[in-house]
Amino acid sequence: MEARLLEKEKDRVALLFKDTTPVFLNTIRRIIVEEVPTMAIEDVEVRKNTSALYDEMLGHRLGLLPLTTDLKSYNLLEECKCEGKGCARCQVKLTLEGKGPGIVYASDIKSADSAIKPAFPKMPIVQLLKGQSIEIEATAVLGKGKVHSKWIPAHVYYKYKPKLTVLEKVDEKTREKAEVCPPGTLGLLRQNKDALSSPIVDGYLGQVCVEENPSEGAVIVEQDKDIILFIETFGQLDAKKVLQEAAKVLENMLNDFEKSLKQKD
Ligand SMILES: [Zn+2]
Repeated sequence: MEARLLEKEKDRVALLFKDTTPVFLNTIRRIIVEEVPTMAIEDVEVRKNTSALYDEMLGHRLGLLPLTTDLKSYNLLEECKCEGKGCARCQVKLTLEGKGPGIVYASDIKSADSAIKPAFPKMPIVQLLKGQSIEIEATAVLGKGKVHSKWIPAHVYYKYKPKLTVLEKVDEKTREKAEVCPPGTLGLLRQNKDALSSPIVDGYLGQVCVEENPSEGAVIVEQDKDIILFIETFGQLDAKKVLQEAAKVLENMLNDFEKSLKQKD
């Protein structure tokens, strides 16, 4: 198997895999979604809430805030030395106070650890009118996506690499059809026939041109044997870190499997 990096940003990577199967990439996808831990608010103590939202709704909104995650410094609650009681190695306290009138944002949350804070400070939590206020203490812990979706680190998907052939000569009717493609894409395709630059692989071209411009058109679209894996994070961890953690989890799972097979012998 061979992997090549096509696109790398903090919150998104695209990798091209040769000589692999969808089964393997689906395994990676499921491990990322279900097993790679991130931080999220789990317990909320509402000390004061005269806002229009119920305590439960505030709790729900806080739980879904992506928090930047430091996997080195924290343990999963069930694997921590405190045996699940909660300590500085497995949980972080956060506080939120707000007074109306105005909107309370994620950036108003104060964290006991500067490494664990809302990934998107401008996310609104609640709007307060004059005289309304909230006072909340929350506890964030590491958790896994298989327990609750708030701990899922990324959106992961894969698809066969599109193989695009641009016909050099097209008749008037076909050209008209090709016009439904976003402007410039035909030229772009002609320059880049292996279609690996991200606007082509990722984008609208695949969708719009293919739907509107079937194989007898200016662009012939087939699928290659190679597969492209996309990881788009929700902000808790870098895309690279997400993949590294998934690889670690897979390795551990395989080691455990090997051990249990040996015990059976
Ligand atoms: Zn602990």
